[in-house]
Amino acid sequence: MYSSISPKTMKETNIISVFNLIKLHPFITRREIAKKLSLSPSTVTVITEQLLAKELIVEDSPINGGKLGRRPVGLKVTGKYLFIIAVEVYDNRLAGAIFDINLKKVADYSYKIHISGSNITNHIIAFIEELKSKNEFVSPEYLGIGIAFAGMVERKNRQLVTATKMKIYEANIADVISDYFGINVYMENISVLAGMAEKARYRYSDYYVYIYNDQGIGGCVYEKGRFLCGSLGVSPEIGHLSVDPLGEKCYCGNRGCIEMYASMHSVLTAVAKHIEGGGKTAVKELSGGDNALIDGKMLSEAVKSGDSAVLDIILDAAEKFGLALVYIVNLFNPDTIVIGGRIEELGEIFKNKVLDTVTERTIPALRNTLKIEYVPVDDFQVLKGSAVLVLDNEIANVVLG
Ligand SMILES: [Zn+2]
Repeated sequence: MYSSISPKTMKETNIISVFNLIKLHPFITRREIAKKLSLSPSTVTVITEQLLAKELIVEDSPINGGKLGRRPVGLKVTGKYLFIIAVEVYDNRLAGAIFDINLKKVADYSYKIHISGSNITNHIIAFIEELKSKNEFVSPEYLGIGIAFAGMVERKNRQLVTATKMKIYEANIADVISDYFGINVYMENISVLAGMAEKARYRYSDYYVYIYNDQGIGGCVYEKGRFLCGSLGVSPEIGHLSVDPLGEKCYCGNRGCIEMYASMHSVLTAVAKHIEGGGKTAVKELSGGDNALIDGKMLSEAVKSGDSAVLDIILDAAEKFGLALVYIVNLFNPDTIVIGGRIEELGEIFKNKVLDTVTERTIPALRNTLKIEYVPVDDFQVLKGSAVLVLDNEIANVVLG
């Protein structure tokens, strides 16, 4: 079993739903579970007995606070010794964290390394060994490994299609790592996993698009809780929608892709170039002259103090990002677009220009009910998504043996 999208039986889906509901609402009763999930009490009893037998949940009641009357016995997730390994692979960095099954982080680790060529699997194995040594629990048991790649991941055959900037040619990465550690390995694109970490928050939205705008731009489209993916099983390449047919050549083969103008990385690069070219900006002072330290909050602050050069860079990025959203709205007609990643740090100047562009250029019927939301930056968002991917796949496996 590999992908989050692989079709699941009703039995598996129910186990995952019950487990996730208990995780979200500690001390929930069996009766409340049945009501919330519209399942019969007997189905809930069977599933909770299975989860109890595998020690994934325990019966417990909150301390009553001196109130009269007894609350019925509730259920909560244990997560004591069962853990998930999550790893993020970029062209210049490996990062990882260990989560318990309540998705609480118990350890994390990262280092800079140039990832390229044909030795990536060994690098990841060595990294995971180091990461495991940071877990202070005695004889921990691991449920699985989730790996996030800054590249296209083909779900069907659990292969990297292309790790764009990374130039990875190795096949069977997941299988080799799985054989080495003796547990299942799941791989997915970083943007999809960032979206997966948000799944619980947006599960009541029928059609939503998640866009991760950080180092690059990527995303995923959800239709009634399921990912939309193409014949290869890859997520939509939102970052490579072209907004300028005569623009600069992109590494994907196209010209003028939005990732080159509107990703957080490209905005920061444009400001750094402006400084290197001798241009005036308040950012130079805010960053103490070190371009590597520039972040979105500094840009936002500079604009507030009347920095017109930075304002122009942000407005240009926002307009192009807005144009990409127009494509998405016209293609998918989502009810919500959720935008994550460090782009959120650019604040209202960026967000208002994006909204103006979408309002001006989309078909009114499609935009009238559309919500655009930004979710705050979280350093562990992608890793958390990797853990969710493992958990959703493995819980049913553990229970059904
Ligand atoms: Zn491109």
